[in-house]
Amino acid sequence: MNLYEYEAKRIFAEGGINVPPSARITKPEELTKVHLGFPLVLKCQVLSGGRGKAGGIKFPKNLTEAKEIAKTLLDMTIGGSKTQCLLVEPAMDIARELYLGITLDRDRGCPIFIASAEGGIEIESSENVLTEPIPMPYHPYVGRNLAKKLGLTGSDLTQVADIANKLYKIFESKDLDLAEINPLIITKGGDVVALDGKIIVNDDSIGRQPYFKGWQEAHLQDLSVRERRAKMADLNLVELEGNIGILCNGAGLTMATMDMVKAFGGDPGNFLDAGGGSDQKKTLAALELVNENPRVDVILLNILGGITACDEVAGALVDFMKKYPERQMIVRLRGNNQDKAEQMLASSGLKLYPDIEEAVKEAVARSKNSSKKPVGAKA
Ligand code: GDP
Ligand code: MG
Repeated sequence: MNLYEYEAKRIFAEGGINVPPSARITKPEELTKVHLGFPLVLKCQVLSGGRGKAGGIKFPKNLTEAKEIAKTLLDMTIGGSKTQCLLVEPAMDIARELYLGITLDRDRGCPIFIASAEGGIEIESSENVLTEPIPMPYHPYVGRNLAKKLGLTGSDLTQVADIANKLYKIFESKDLDLAEINPLIITKGGDVVALDGKIIVNDDSIGRQPYFKGWQEAHLQDLSVRERRAKMADLNLVELEGNIGILCNGAGLTMATMDMVKAFGGDPGNFLDAGGGSDQKKTLAALELVNENPRVDVILLNILGGITACDEVAGALVDFMKKYPERQMIVRLRGNNQDKAEQMLASSGLKLYPDIEEAVKEAVARSKNSSKKPVGAKA
């Protein structure tokens, strides 16, 4: 789960990291009630980076200008992400920009600090980036060594070391995949302040993090309604432009099926991985999601029963076809409890395709016939 900058900064502040004072607005008029002085900085709150370059960060000098700019910013979409609100802060006098982040290094099998004395927008292309594995158990000397390696001295060193230690505490206690401050600034007055914040919470840990309880739905804003529902039902759905609805179990099988559809001249309407071990209820929910996509003419279901039991899938198919008897379905169902599944489906009139190539060819052929039909002729 990706957090907005204002949420990341709230978490930083709670962890003792210095952030600018701020307000949040969803309408330009609300600026009248903001008393942070001028010049201000107005920042689009989107679940995507690179706002500075995209024009999503502006520095109005007075209230009239601020209201005008706010109106434009509130309508902005950056990197496919809609602006949820604006963060308003007094513009800071920057003497120096640094970069400080913590993420997991899967090769080393431990968290790492990523830091640079040349922060700012282009950290990805900067050459002077330090990566420091974080030893367990954590000790504050790690933050101090890091700040030293960045070439800092005096009060800058002490403050950055302290922020690094606090950032690690947040990273660990909140089960984060990423905690990033870019830029971490040193003001002309010598204060070290987190000017931007990016946090990614590990999705699998949310269940044990009471802090993030109920946060997930609001962070799926950029997804279609169906993709959001899929996430909430623990299904992986990505909608595409084609008209063959695809439902498989396992990301690899789903992608291989999509590749075959493409290879035989068809166009996938979605990627849907129902995961391993999906029962009747979850499979039915997955079928409904594919079915509801108005672009889909044919559903191709390719399930390999390993952890998933084929009879659970068959149960979902029986229920689904009672509800949508006209829906064009191509089904390949192999593996665990296959005999039972075949018996359950025998009286349903649904033809099973044991061979995936045949199944895909048939799905593509039917998708071509359906797309020739006039609009509205679809069942
Ligand atoms: P991002 O582009 O989405 O990463 O947004 P940031 O919040 O990191 O802002 C991008 C850049 O805008 C920063 O690196 C700063 O150079 C500049 N910036 C942001 N806030 C301020 C501010 O309060 N004062 C000044 N002078 N510059 C700022
Ligand atoms: Mg930034």
